[in-house]
Amino acid sequence: MPDARSSLRPNVGELADGLRNGDRGALSRSITLVESTLPHDRETADELLDCVWPDRMDDSTRFAITGPPGAGKSTLIEAVGGRLLRRGRRVAVLAVDPSSHYGGGSILGDKTRMARLAASDNAYIRPSPAAGSPGGVTRTTREVIALCEVAGFDTIIVETVGVGQAEIDVASMVDFVLLVVLAGAGDELQGIKRGILEVADIVAVNKLDLDRDAVMSTRSLYRAAFGILHPRFPGWSRQVIVCSALTGVGIESVEGAVVDLSAYIAADGMKRALRTSQLRDWFVTTLRDMIVDRIAGTSNANDSLERALRDIEAGDRSPGSAARMFVERFLSFDRLG
Ligand code: GDP
Repeated sequence: MPDARSSLRPNVGELADGLRNGDRGALSRSITLVESTLPHDRETADELLDCVWPDRMDDSTRFAITGPPGAGKSTLIEAVGGRLLRRGRRVAVLAVDPSSHYGGGSILGDKTRMARLAASDNAYIRPSPAAGSPGGVTRTTREVIALCEVAGFDTIIVETVGVGQAEIDVASMVDFVLLVVLAGAGDELQGIKRGILEVADIVAVNKLDLDRDAVMSTRSLYRAAFGILHPRFPGWSRQVIVCSALTGVGIESVEGAVVDLSAYIAADGMKRALRTSQLRDWFVTTLRDMIVDRIAGTSNANDSLERALRDIEAGDRSPGSAARMFVERFLSFDRLG
């Protein structure tokens, strides 16, 4: 009897050809495939990625835009993205919302704020699924980035909501990070995790049109904060730019910083090292997530975990020794085989 699934199974060769030809339908179908959590889709997705690997992936610019909700990220992407299109760039925007458990809708309700971008043949906007583990989200996002690049998008913008750990994780998938913030009451830096500042290469203090003085004093705060951080790239000083995504004031400077930093990274041979580190990180985090999933999927994992915790609480074992025992019990080769 024919496998009932085979008729539903996408044709990898066709998808790969479509992707390489920049076919948007093929891109959307490929993304849906890598986002699927069904095991047989996962296999097909891996086959597809291997088939197109590593086409064109080093030629692109990847950056993240992050910042608190309402800071103006979508509006800024529309403004900066429009300028990048006019420079002949092909722009893909991937929206990731790690805090939400449904399909990214909360962000791309904002598609209206990217209406012009969405209407262009040279732009592609796609929400990423948010459900599942943060590891799942990052793996899928990395794969979606790769698929967009194969389809000929040379500028990949990953938009994330919020300023938490997941946003810091996103920094490991991209070449640089643009943080969008608002002017606040003077203590606004406290609302931004230090880890985010460390990975931010460009800060845009937005809504200059609303309160110029407050925006300027926020700029000083960020400049001072950057003064005490180590540079992320030798020879590139982090930039703090004031702008209004709504009126367009300062957008040229934001775009200029994005273009300059991506040229700097490309020219200095830094790109290869960056991409290698992104691949390593991708592999290591995927491996870690898979191992954790495998262990969690075995029937007696929870019992063993409870037993280990009891041993620790009873003072029978140190946490390190209990962890080692646990790992040895679950990671023997025949179990993983
Ligand atoms: P996001 O949640 O960070 O993506 O923020 P949005 O781009 O959705 O913007 C949130 C709100 O702020 C929207 O109503 C925008 O129109 C508005 N907004 C964005 N940028 C500016 C700006 O520069 N000035 C003003 N006055 N409003 C802005």
